[in-house]
Parts: sequence; structure tokens; C-alpha cells
Amino acid sequence: MARFTDETKERVKQAADIVEVVSPYTDLVRRGKDLWGLCPFHDERTPSFKVNPQDKLYFCFGCQASGDVLRFVEEKEGLSFPEAVEMLAERYGVEIERESEDPRAEEARRRRARLWELLERTAKFYERYLWEAPKAHKARAYLEGRGLGEEVLRRFGVGMAPSAWDQVLTGSQRAGFKVDELQAAGLVQKGRQGGDYDRFRSRITFPIRDQRGRVLGFGARALSAASKPKYLNSPEGELYRKSNTLYGIDRARGPIAKARRAVVVEGYTDVLALQQAGVEETVAIMGTAITPEQLTMLAGLTDVVVLALDADRAGADAMIRAQRVAGGKGLDLRVAAMPEGEDPADMLEAGGLDRFHELVEGAIDLPSFRVRTALGRGDLGSVAGRERTLAEVAPVLAAMGEVVGRDELIREVADRLDTDPSLVSERVRAAPREGSAEPGAAGNGAKGSTPQVAKPPLTPRETRERALLAMCIADPKTGRPFIERLTEEHLSESGRPALRWLREHLGNPMAGLPRDDEALTALITQLVMSSERVPASAGAMQLNFDLLEQQRLEDSITAAQSAGDYEAGARLSRERAQLTDRIAYAETLGA
Ligand SMILES: [Zn+2]
Repeated sequence: MARFTDETKERVKQAADIVEVVSPYTDLVRRGKDLWGLCPFHDERTPSFKVNPQDKLYFCFGCQASGDVLRFVEEKEGLSFPEAVEMLAERYGVEIERESEDPRAEEARRRRARLWELLERTAKFYERYLWEAPKAHKARAYLEGRGLGEEVLRRFGVGMAPSAWDQVLTGSQRAGFKVDELQAAGLVQKGRQGGDYDRFRSRITFPIRDQRGRVLGFGARALSAASKPKYLNSPEGELYRKSNTLYGIDRARGPIAKARRAVVVEGYTDVLALQQAGVEETVAIMGTAITPEQLTMLAGLTDVVVLALDADRAGADAMIRAQRVAGGKGLDLRVAAMPEGEDPADMLEAGGLDRFHELVEGAIDLPSFRVRTALGRGDLGSVAGRERTLAEVAPVLAAMGEVVGRDELIREVADRLDTDPSLVSERVRAAPREGSAEPGAAGNGAKGSTPQVAKPPLTPRETRERALLAMCIADPKTGRPFIERLTEEHLSESGRPALRWLREHLGNPMAGLPRDDEALTALITQLVMSSERVPASAGAMQLNFDLLEQQRLEDSITAAQSAGDYEAGARLSRERAQLTDRIAYAETLGA
């Protein structure tokens, strides 16, 4: 896709309200000219995440996450840079200009935009039909019977497809859409005689949206028991892919980040019922097993995923794969087993919100869940039954690897089977590893996703160089000579690109940062933000410079010694001694 003009990027940044963009992910409190909150990038109890509304930057003193408003959108909404620009441009009404565009890419982009428009239009049509058409009374009665109120139904744009064979087809054609666009959007399909007809008829429609809220397709529930299948979805196509879609994600994103967990259910109505009951961190996998792509989407928002699924499904192979993928992403995947034959919507309808909360709070990791299910089902009264149960749980325990909870679980099994833990351990060691782990199973991962773990602490050298560089930014006039005296040997590997950048851009370090250099962008952003709180004085700069110089001398001495150049070593050692004296003197002055 053609690049945005620099002016477009600047205008988008100017127009965007970073506080509004960040707020869905964490509650911000104003302190001075900055706002503070719990970091949406790592788990913490006291706020170390700062947002600067003037410069539209954020910075976390805990995990060092940092960037501008565009970067925040990329990271938290899982978007690529162009998507982040588009999304904010749309939201803040900025017109996008591009450098002259490759005609084919331009054409593809136009087509996608047309399909989105068509789907959005159709969703609106279905929604109106549900509320206005007399023939939709049965659908309304069904939804009401499930305890779903008008407010939540409208919030999710639930609608109804009429029974006619061509209402969407002809209506869309009149509005200027072509049959091939209707087919590509999954709204129309070919009959046996070659004619085209509406795919969804006499069904309750649930628009399926992407993270940005754009309609990708529909899930549609039959109104009469006779029509099959009960649920009909949009076909996979240019826009809709089941494996990387989560129903409700556009609404649940912020709540998931705030609640620090995602609740995953199976059906559309489960999502609606839970949203209505205030459990807003809920999304649905639409009857499939959770996929690596879906886990990746959630991993960008939280590190706890609770699957509120039918107990039988939770043991299935797909779940075991999901467990491995989750492990690879640092996600804590738990199971809240729903009672047999009861889904969350049923439970809430029967007034069981507290029960649902209890189940979710009590969710356990998948291996524990499977072991306990086996213990619960097994015939532990007979030797043969105990043996079968042990044979069933041993591979599960073996697959856990040497993790903290395993010994506890082994003791639990031994206790229930009335045997010795060492015997269970032995069986675990001998057990076949179920579905050996494939490191590549995690898929390609989301674009722009960064590890959510806190970064390792800075080395003393990094701390010093960052302090010095931040001071130079804070007071460029005094800082300039230090920037010129610093060499690459003074700095850590990560600090060098920043030095190179600042040599050219000390006056306005944020302008024109190369987009494809994430490390540089992050570091410069951090430096700019911390430059506002470092007391910059020539004395403090000199001291930091000297400390870096001392480090450089030490490196050179080591290098000289290992090269056998004792003369150079001695000279450098004298230099170091002088410098050490100077530093000690400066420190007594409290520079
Ligand atoms: Zn953080």
C-alpha cells in the first residue's frame, strides 16, 4: 500500500486525543500536566504508567513500554502502522493523503472498503427489519425469551434476515453494488440453476466485527427448529476468516484490558447475556476450538484467558493444542467448566450470575482440570478402575513438565487413588508424552506484538547513558558538547543508535523518527519523556559523562591487557586513576 504523506501522519497525531485512546485500557488520574494509571502493558498494583497529553506520549517506568499515540494503537489494538493511522484518521476525522499509489494496491483497498460498506449497510438493514417488521415478531419473542433486552441487542446490532430470497440482493444492487461484491461479502450465493439468492433468510443475524468494529460477516440463527443448520455463518472469504475472529472483540477489548482477563464462551447469545449482566470482558469463539490466532489477539490485551466452556469440550485435543500455544505466549489459560447441558446464557437467564462469577473465579489450569475430571469420573472403588484412572492422568501430568503445581497434583492423585505419591510419579515418568510439543505451533503471531513481560533491568552503563542523553535533550544548548564528545565506545549497544540519532536531531528528537526502527523509536520516546523530570545541569552532565568515560577506560584496559599491550594498559590505568579522583571530587560536591 502506498505510504501516507508525512503531513497525514502529523495531522493524525495532532488530531488524536491520547487520553481518550488510552482510557479504555486503564483509568487515568491527572497529576500536574501528566496523567497516571496502572500500566496496560504489564501487571502492577501501583501506577507507573504516565501519559503526556501535550506531546501525546506514554511511558511506563515499570516495563519501559513507551511511544506515541500511534504506537499505543498499534500495540494495544494489534494493528499494523498503516492500520493505526487509518483507524485514528477515521476516528478523528482526518483526511488521508498518500504518496502516489500503486494502482493495483489502490484497487484492492477500494474493493475492501466497498465490501465493508456493503456489510455495514446490510447489518443496518437486518437490524431495522428486526425492530420494525411485523414478521420479525417471532425473532423478537425468541430473544426476549432468552432474557436479552433491547439495549444490548441494539448495542451489538442484532437483526433479522427476512424470508425473501432476494431482498438483500436486489436492495444492494439498487444501491450500486455488483453481484460479485455481494458474493465476495458472503451475502449472496449461487443456486443450482445458476441464479443468485440471499444466503441468510428467516434467521436472527449477529454481525461479526473485527477489532476496529468493521462488519466482516454474520452468524445467523435459524428461527424454526426445522431449518438446518441451526447456526449458519458467513463463508470464509476476502474479509471473514473464522480462525482469526472473536465475536464481541470490538466491544470487549477495553474491558479485557481493564479486568486483566478475557472470558471466552461459545455462542453469540452467551456474549450478549454476559455483556448485559456486566461481564464485559467476554468474547465468543463461535462454536470452534480456540485457535492460535485468537489467542494471539487476546495475548495483546491480557495474560489471563478463562474458557467458560462445556466440560467435555475442555478435554478435547484442540484444547490441549491451545494450552501449548498459550504457554508459548505466556498466557495463563484456565478452564471454568460449565455444568453439563448448561451454557452461560442459560445460567444467567436462571438468575445465576453469582454462580457464573464463582465458576470463573474458580477456573483452574487445563491439566488440573483434566486430572480432576478423570478423578471425578473414574470408578475409584475398584482396582481396575483406579488403574484406568491412573493410566488416564499420567500422560496429562507428564505433559505438564516440571512445573510448580505438578507435585501437588500428583499428591492429590495419590491421595484419591489411595496409593503412594512415588508410585504415581513413577508412572508419570514412564508415561508417553501426549502430543509432543511443536515449538512452531504458535503460528505467525500478531503483527507488532511485543513480549508482555517486563524487560530486564538496565545495566549501570545503560542507566548512566540514558540519564545523560535525557539531560542533553532537556537542555540542548548545554548538552550539545557532550553529545559531540560521546563516542560509540562510551555507550551500550542499545544506546548507540540513540546517540547517532541525537547528533542530528537534538533540537527536536521526536520529529521524523524512522517508523520501521521500533527500538530506536521506543528509546528516543523514553528519553524525551524522562527528559522532563531529570534535573539537567552542566555539572550533572559532566558527572554522567565521566562515569561513562570511566567505563570506557576500563573496557580499553581489559582489551589492552588481553592483547598483551602493557604500555597502553599502564597509560590507560593512569588516565583512569585521574578520572576516578575527579569523579570522587565531583560527588563530594553533590553534583
Ligand atoms: Zn508497564
